[in-house]
Amino acid sequence: MTPPDNGVSVTTLKGVGTALSLKLERLGIHTVQDLLLHLPLRYQDRTRVVPVGSLRSGDEALIEGTVRAADIAQGRRRSLMCRIQDGSGSLTLRFFHFRAAQKNSFQPSTRLLCFGEARPGPGGLEMVHPEYKLLKGDGPAVMSEQLTPVYPLTEGLTQGRIRSLITLALEWMRDQGLKDLLPDTLLQQWKLPSLPDSLEYLHNPPVDADQSLLLDGKHPAQRRLAMEELLAHHLSLQKARERVQQQGAPALKATGAFSRPFLAGLPFELTGAQLRVAREVARDLQQPLPMLRLVQGDVGSGKTVVAALAALQAVENGLQAAVMAPTEILAEQHHINFSHWLEPLGIRVAWLAGKVKGKAREAQLEAIRSGEAQIVVGTHALFQEEVRFADLGVVVIDEQHRFGVHQRLSLKEKGRNGERSPHQLIMTATPIPRTLTMSAYADLDCSIIDELPPGRTPVQTVVVADSRRDQVVERVRQACDEGRQAYWVCTLIEESEALQCEAAEVTAERLKEALPQLRIGLVHGRMKPAEKADIMARFKAAELDLLVATTVIEVGVDVPNASLMIIENPERLGLAQLHQLRGRVGRGSVESYCVLMYHAPLSKQGRERLGVMRETTDGFRIAEKDLELRGPGEVLGTRQTGMMQFRIADLQRDADLLPRIHQVALELKTEPALNDALIRRWLGTGDMYAQV
Ligand code: ADP
Ligand code: MG
Repeated sequence: MTPPDNGVSVTTLKGVGTALSLKLERLGIHTVQDLLLHLPLRYQDRTRVVPVGSLRSGDEALIEGTVRAADIAQGRRRSLMCRIQDGSGSLTLRFFHFRAAQKNSFQPSTRLLCFGEARPGPGGLEMVHPEYKLLKGDGPAVMSEQLTPVYPLTEGLTQGRIRSLITLALEWMRDQGLKDLLPDTLLQQWKLPSLPDSLEYLHNPPVDADQSLLLDGKHPAQRRLAMEELLAHHLSLQKARERVQQQGAPALKATGAFSRPFLAGLPFELTGAQLRVAREVARDLQQPLPMLRLVQGDVGSGKTVVAALAALQAVENGLQAAVMAPTEILAEQHHINFSHWLEPLGIRVAWLAGKVKGKAREAQLEAIRSGEAQIVVGTHALFQEEVRFADLGVVVIDEQHRFGVHQRLSLKEKGRNGERSPHQLIMTATPIPRTLTMSAYADLDCSIIDELPPGRTPVQTVVVADSRRDQVVERVRQACDEGRQAYWVCTLIEESEALQCEAAEVTAERLKEALPQLRIGLVHGRMKPAEKADIMARFKAAELDLLVATTVIEVGVDVPNASLMIIENPERLGLAQLHQLRGRVGRGSVESYCVLMYHAPLSKQGRERLGVMRETTDGFRIAEKDLELRGPGEVLGTRQTGMMQFRIADLQRDADLLPRIHQVALELKTEPALNDALIRRWLGTGDMYAQV
């Protein structure tokens, strides 16, 4: 592997070999600088021991106690259970993966120091797979003096390992210096700390640091980095747009030869919003310049029809269209729709996904190459080298936020034919307030489908405390008894996918115990795609009653019979994400419900936010409220909803920086070298936008 040219490779750090650098690569870390910019998700307070008796479910804490007993529980899943107590109460440590030696080390009266999240178990609070240390002698346990950072991880990388790597990177920074690219005058004017100071602080905050400010991403050290990152993206998008404007595209006439019979064959009329957006797209496609248009439309607003119309305009001009979705399940759904709609019109729709193999694959590839396949539907498999289009006129990308901008551009590259570049239509269901779209997509024009097809019954949302879990479980039983299906979504503070999957496994086990009569399936991010697809297919075929899932998995499959969704700890998610999840129910004709099962106590902001979910199902109103309401401490565990992959910035949180960034970008126009250095620092080797 050639080291990226934007800095010193991580392999220069002591102890970083090929195996480790491959793992780091999965986190987007190539250089020492990338490592420095890999900021903690949050911090743990291990500076004090918390009495066991004062723990509430959901608390993450350091506890110290004495072992009472350790046993292996047989149950559905074998686990090692160790009961410990301090003067104030007792708690169970539970291990699903353990060694015999571990059980033996938990001899009665052994003292343990543990750190973990307290959760309700069958016999009171428990910590599943806590970190722990056996304490020798009678002296007090040694505690940390600073807040402990918790970093995003990847498989095979532990918090301990990444913490020590970051320590090395900070030493490197102190020795070598990291150049501050922002002009001094700017930092002074904005009252922002220097780059090295910011990084030192964020990786090792003092005990008295304002944790809620940090969690909220509003600390000056974070603001400084966010501002620099947003600036880099802005400069890069500006460059990309300038380049695109220099390219030509096929001017596609809207002849109506296919679109007219297509519309006539649909069992419904388009909504006013669909018609308006379809017209905007059709107008762009007639231009000899590449269209770069983003269509935002709430879940269920009918974006697929708009995509089909764009694809048909290419076909009407003898060109091909590619339609891509982020998962095999979603792509398959599009393939079914497109074939069903368009094959009667004599249009050949090809299908390409990872699971299309051997002869079938060859045949599809050949049809794409020869142009016989007029429309090609698929997953990211369409990006592969071997896929060659005869003449690609339009690219449609669904649910853009799951593809990187980089991939989007690589597909566009495929369609390049001399100086001509295909038109691009990007569709997303993630509503973004209008004020932000300009900056988030400085390279795109925007259309909004702001109307749902008639006849939908809005999902009824209820907000309940998890102390009423039994009632919620009963509600699931009732719904399934009546022949409906339900989703149960597990959330967890997202430092590691592994932990999240584990939590979902535990929840699924508990639900199986509580609801033995139901057929319960589990999907999470760590399952193999085939396994996931199989469970989803069984749910769709109503062979499963209840689907337990983590939030990272795509539950975008249309299952109209699923009319109940339970979301655990919704207070941990952003409103936009809750809205997305909730959109999975309410797709059929029966009344649907969403139960937001929070963990008390809720902050005032938290109450207000869940209240918004109860009051409205309008994605744009929700997005605007989200922006308005975000307060300290509320972003815990929230994933970024931005389409672009930001390391630090969050378009909603940092929205107030955007106007200033436009201003600064203008001021820096005269310094191309500085612009390039900024872009390289933040966008790395794959300065995706520059490759347009
Ligand atoms: P999304 O915007 O979430 O991708 P889809 O395109 O999947 O939405 O549409 C959701 C459902 O609504 C589909 O079953 C589709 O056939 C149907 N639909 C789309 N447009 C209309 C319309 N104008 N009237 C009635 N139903 C529609
Ligand atoms: Mg869709």
